[in-house]
Amino acid sequence: MEGDDPRGSQRHPVTAPVIRHLQILRTVTEAVSRSLNLNEVLQKSVAALTHVTGHEIASLHLISADGQNLLLRGDRGLSDILREVNRSLRVGEGLIGRVALSGRARRLDEVTGAGDLLDAARAAVAEDGIRGFVCVPILARHRILGTLSLGRQDPPPFSDEEVALLECVADQIGLALDNARLYSETRRQLEDLRRSQMEVVRAERLAAVGELAGGVAHEINNPLMIILGQVHLLFQSRDSEEVLNGLKVIDGATKRAASIVRDLVLFAEHFPLHPSRCQVAEELKHVLALQRGRLEAQHVDVRTEFEASPDIWADVNQLQEAFLHLIQNAEQAMVGAHGHGTLTVRVKPSAGGGVRVEIADDGPGVPANDLARIFNPFFTTKPPGEGRGLGLSVAYSIVAEHEGIIRAENTEAGGALFSIELPVGAPAVEPSFTP
Ligand code: ADP
Repeated sequence: MEGDDPRGSQRHPVTAPVIRHLQILRTVTEAVSRSLNLNEVLQKSVAALTHVTGHEIASLHLISADGQNLLLRGDRGLSDILREVNRSLRVGEGLIGRVALSGRARRLDEVTGAGDLLDAARAAVAEDGIRGFVCVPILARHRILGTLSLGRQDPPPFSDEEVALLECVADQIGLALDNARLYSETRRQLEDLRRSQMEVVRAERLAAVGELAGGVAHEINNPLMIILGQVHLLFQSRDSEEVLNGLKVIDGATKRAASIVRDLVLFAEHFPLHPSRCQVAEELKHVLALQRGRLEAQHVDVRTEFEASPDIWADVNQLQEAFLHLIQNAEQAMVGAHGHGTLTVRVKPSAGGGVRVEIADDGPGVPANDLARIFNPFFTTKPPGEGRGLGLSVAYSIVAEHEGIIRAENTEAGGALFSIELPVGAPAVEPSFTP
């Protein structure tokens, strides 16, 4: 009833062919949006098209990589002989080849009457009783990728609506081809990225090993040379005071070499942890108390912000050593840059249920290029004799041993901020007693 339509417009009955067209389009769009498998999309599209009236044959060609040929990628209802003729067509030749070259659709009511029908196809087309024919280009981003063709054995000829439907399906196929290309390109780029990432990691490791070997040789060689020189002098000396002084130098150089080796071992092998229950803030207070004299002498103010945090299980000696390295670095950076500074030490509960420590300074910060390398053993920007490049790598090992995370970044104000996140951990498992 007309009066029932609130907008007062006339209703048009939806005809059976329109419903069929919509169903075909739906099948094709669903296949395109759901599947990344190009073959599946092509087969489904071609199969759907043969239901325009139920008397169609369909074929889909894609242009070969060299742009010279059209290769049959899907067909429905083609006789064996017609499939053979269609398997590979030259771009620019015959009905389909011309559509692929020009990018313009072609419709014929009597295909056998077409002057440009390939000779090889003419007999097969006549044999199969094909009359109506329509071929449209498949386009993506203004490039012709192939053709979609429909032939019909019975009259009536293809209508404008049917050609429009075929063009719509060809557009969807173009989209699917483009998606497939983008997908494989993205996968390739991802693969490239993964490969170059692995190369970077390997190169960094090699660089670290190189720095390690060079650093060890250099650092140990210096005290050894001193020891050797002193021993040589002592052999010739008759004066007991001279001997005593020489022995003191030897003592100092030997301790230095021993401490380098100890740091290295700590870095490379890790001492076994002796965890005890502790409050991280207390350990930091202890380290700061030991350093107070030094820090005051260097005009470094210390600010602490300690929030109530859970007890954790940790090797307190090792933790103190890690904190000491960070505090000394901060002090050296600030004093080196402007002769004084403010050190901020924070402790708070971490998001993971453990404890987060932050040691921030108002020095020059770590140059962006160095951030990725400062934890490498023997990486130092300090002059020989002042820096050995082991402090941060030792701190890194200690934190890693506690299954924590250490990070370095620069604050907005420009200084460096080192953060350590430590889990609650657990007491060491005692070896079971067997009598
Ligand atoms: P070292 O202190 O002997 O050089 P580290 O491993 O402790 O060895 O530190 C490595 C490098 O990291 C330092 O030489 C320095 O360049 C950089 N660094 C460490 N801490 C800081 C900081 N707080 N501010 C700026 N740079 C830092």
